[in-house]
Amino acid sequence: MEFKLYDTLSREKRVFRPLDAHNVRMYVCGPTVYDLAHIGNARPVIVFDLLYRLLRHLYGAEHVTYVRNITDVDDKINARAAEQGISIRELTESTYANFKADVTALGCLPPNAEPRATDHIAEMKMLIERLVAGGHAYVAEDHVLFSVPSMPDYGRLSKRPLDEMIAGARVDVAPYKRHDQDFVLWKPSKTDEPGWPSPCGISTPGRPGWHIECSAMSWKHLGETFDIHGGGIDLVFPHHENEIAQSRCAFHTGVMANVWMHNGFLQVEGEKMSKSLGNFIVIRDVLKDWPGDVVRLAMLTTHYRQPINWTVKGLQEAEKALSGFFDAAASEAEARPAPGVLDALLDDLNTPKAIAEMHALKNAAGRKSLAGTLGFLGFRQSELEDWKRGQTPAIAVEVADVERRISARNAARAAKNWAESDRIRDELAAMGVKLTDSKDGTTWEVAR
Ligand SMILES: [Zn+2]
Repeated sequence: MEFKLYDTLSREKRVFRPLDAHNVRMYVCGPTVYDLAHIGNARPVIVFDLLYRLLRHLYGAEHVTYVRNITDVDDKINARAAEQGISIRELTESTYANFKADVTALGCLPPNAEPRATDHIAEMKMLIERLVAGGHAYVAEDHVLFSVPSMPDYGRLSKRPLDEMIAGARVDVAPYKRHDQDFVLWKPSKTDEPGWPSPCGISTPGRPGWHIECSAMSWKHLGETFDIHGGGIDLVFPHHENEIAQSRCAFHTGVMANVWMHNGFLQVEGEKMSKSLGNFIVIRDVLKDWPGDVVRLAMLTTHYRQPINWTVKGLQEAEKALSGFFDAAASEAEARPAPGVLDALLDDLNTPKAIAEMHALKNAAGRKSLAGTLGFLGFRQSELEDWKRGQTPAIAVEVADVERRISARNAARAAKNWAESDRIRDELAAMGVKLTDSKDGTTWEVAR
């Protein structure tokens, strides 16, 4: 059975052949960390975790490198940090710790590297200077812009008609742009925004555009060309289109990644998820009611390229299915997929078929394969049992993060800023951390 993946760039399912079977490389666009992650954010994390597990099974765990970046330079981050009166690093440290705790509860393995944009400013500047030197970018009014007409085959990933791309790019109208489609690589920082010394002889401090972050981080951690680039379908244009333009023009390569994979949209009970519709669901809230593994199975019940309709009914059905699997499975087995399940996954991660295969294993002959398959897919029996006993699933907390928050709370108390100290205590409570204050100081425990 050949391993096939659907490639958004060529619009076809193709046999996967790694550039180097001793180092299979995958990059997935990670979250912009300014608040608790929502269930739409959970979808790519679960889908690409499954792909990571499959790659490790096929090529050996030590031969796969999975990089998922953290965007920590962003207008929303700046605004939220200013709102809370904390530094950008403090905000992103705590929101990222929350994100990590959530996705760990969803049974996702940590990637091999989780680079932060703010740690890769030097690489971004190198890329920008290279693009300017090669005639693919230009400086205008303290900005550096990518010149879209300098790349004759720009637009192949999204295959949008030119006028649509221009309309999309016009969202950001600016008189200094030579062409409407040109996009920002670097821009000046306002005085209250984070800024770094600018490239290309620009004298005012500035900050990178969003797209250049991923070109720089994938280059640093995976090289000029790598195997798989993934993310949500909403990232195809302009984000991934522009990543391709930057990387290919900087390195003079035919492709940035050999396979481009995108997961479909997520709706809630048949409607678009939005704050204004009041159906905005954060992972943390789902985990109050359901074990992470049920959420994981519910997400994998729909094929990753299809739109998913997130419903309570879907969660109930996933819980029933998962209980049925664990009831039928042997208690001990080596974590490896049953042959039928593996074949389904090799066909562009056909998880609905894999799950159907698992139902077929619910018999005396299949119980060992079923147990191995559950382990391979990242499902944990103990988690489900705890939940059935009425215990809320434990959310992993990072000790350093908790202690940092406690010292911030102590500082607030010392300054008699009770509102701030209460806010931090409530935030910790939402993370499942209970504080006890005494004359000797503050101790904490994870409340179960
Ligand atoms: Zn990206």
